[in-house]
Amino acid sequence: MSDIQRAPKGTFDRLPPESAAYLAARDTLVAPLLTAGYGYVETPVFEETAVFSRGVGESTDVVSKEMYTFADRGGRSLTLRPEFTAGVMRAFIEHRLYAGALPAKLWTVGSAFRYERPQAGRYRHFTQVSVEALGVDDPALDAELVALADAGFRGLGLADYDLQLTSLGDATCRPQYRELLTSFLAGLDLDEETRRRAGINPLRVLDDKRPEVQAQLVDAPLLVDHLSDSTKAHYDAVRQHLSDLGVTWVEAPRLVRGLDYYTKTTFEFVHRGLGAQASIGGGGRYDGLSAALGGPDVSGIGYAVGVDRTILAAQAEGLDIAVTSGIDVFVVHLGEEAKRFAVGLVGQLRAAGVAADTVYGGRGLKGAMKAADRSGAARVVVVGDRDLAEGVAQVKTMATGEQVAVPLTELADSLRASV
Ligand code: AMP
Repeated sequence: MSDIQRAPKGTFDRLPPESAAYLAARDTLVAPLLTAGYGYVETPVFEETAVFSRGVGESTDVVSKEMYTFADRGGRSLTLRPEFTAGVMRAFIEHRLYAGALPAKLWTVGSAFRYERPQAGRYRHFTQVSVEALGVDDPALDAELVALADAGFRGLGLADYDLQLTSLGDATCRPQYRELLTSFLAGLDLDEETRRRAGINPLRVLDDKRPEVQAQLVDAPLLVDHLSDSTKAHYDAVRQHLSDLGVTWVEAPRLVRGLDYYTKTTFEFVHRGLGAQASIGGGGRYDGLSAALGGPDVSGIGYAVGVDRTILAAQAEGLDIAVTSGIDVFVVHLGEEAKRFAVGLVGQLRAAGVAADTVYGGRGLKGAMKAADRSGAARVVVVGDRDLAEGVAQVKTMATGEQVAVPLTELADSLRASV
């Protein structure tokens, strides 16, 4: 196969019938938000590159290695969104949502793009449900978001995952901890590249997956042991609210997420049935993001769920999440008159909310019955010119094979009543 007959590396097509699982997963993940006052927002698929380089952070893999950045014909540097939060924050600032009712509760869903090494559960084009509550710093809001993400997963029937939770401190305690960690890291045997990253953001080194690095980090100081009083109180309150909401979590003091903007509450949902790419969602509070993008100094909290990976997690748990968007009634026609009748009947049924289909392209009876079978329709109407002349159509119930002649005048009503 040549390249023009293949989706680009790291991308895939969603095709029916499996695509039904995608829609069901997406809608189930979103459902809790619709009961909690979150409004839908849509931002462009690309933004000025600086939105992400400043918003997500220069030291992150996402910005330093994974962005799809290009110059448009006007010479602007644009980037396909690698995540949603920076763009949503840009919109919050541009439209002065901070001057309105706060928190601004927003959700979105769509494509994100990262130039990553593709593997199971890791793609270059993937889908996220992304949720933000902007402009208010209240631990109860942190707990609300965590609980909503959790409710989305539970709604799909997922059970085999952990909610990992920690606090990444704030501007009062993080700099001190950073110094502590930096001097600890200085005593380790690290390669040039890792040292460079440690210089930009030492916390990122804690996230290094290589065993030789992890082995050296066993005694690394942990931020949770160095939280300021106010940050600690915030974290305690978040945990209290989570308990009240019936959400369970595990403490994850080494959790550092792939994006630089997180402060205070930080969390990740990790599925036990997935391989290396086990994170199905995550997020946290970000105090500096608005200001980093030139907006007011307001706090926000958000999370993103990977829809594709959530589907893999559901499969790993043996869950059937696809809602069959199948056909209720299939109409098979034989003859010119019967075809006209069939097309009209299908239109009438659809208008009445019955999922209906017929056969196109002049296939013989055998082909038409095969198509009827494949459609999954519970009822198949067979109508020929001779039936029409007699004023009836044959209605076959596929489960039993039973077939009855129904008068044309009663046909639509009887089919509608049967679904
Ligand atoms: P992040 O924006 O990095 O916090 O990621 C949030 C969620 O998006 C992750 O938990 C994954 O479920 C999903 N995700 C991130 N990167 C990818 C990718 N390359 N392919 C598929 N899903 C991804």
